[in-house]
Amino acid sequence: MSNLCINCSTEMEEHGNVGYSITNGVCLQCVESIFGKHNSELTTFLDNLEAPILLMQSDPRQVKTANKQACELFKKELSQIEGHRGGQVFDCVYAFTKDGCGKDVNCEDCKIKNAVVETFTSGKSSDGASTVLDIKNNDSTIPYKLRVSTEKVGELALIRIDQYEKKD
Ligand SMILES: [Zn+2]
Repeated sequence: MSNLCINCSTEMEEHGNVGYSITNGVCLQCVESIFGKHNSELTTFLDNLEAPILLMQSDPRQVKTANKQACELFKKELSQIEGHRGGQVFDCVYAFTKDGCGKDVNCEDCKIKNAVVETFTSGKSSDGASTVLDIKNNDSTIPYKLRVSTEKVGELALIRIDQYEKKD
């Protein structure tokens, strides 16, 4: 059975990328080379992942870039996503407080934040961390179900949005 990297087509056994939920099928060498820089190769790679993806940096913890599916999902331009915190991208009400996303007292137990922090500190991927966020919508707030998967890539982390929709 062949097990070729979907990006460079080399045999994966030599430098396999096993057990990763987001870059599954891409060899470690490609992951390292793609995420080592911010160029059109990275953009193409993220867009080809099909699901909405945020690429996060750890310090300060904010979005480095996102793919076009994420821009469509959150109805934002890339400039409204890059350099912003996750909660700002999701329009979480606590991203609009004085302390802001991740620092507000209400963020202490945020499962999304904790999954991202855990991925940065331990390198472990998470598969389907979920929570309900209060999303700011003009003057009202609407509960949204948010579920994400995370994966560390070099110094960065990928956040795949598995669900972002109004709670019933
Ligand atoms: Zn490869």
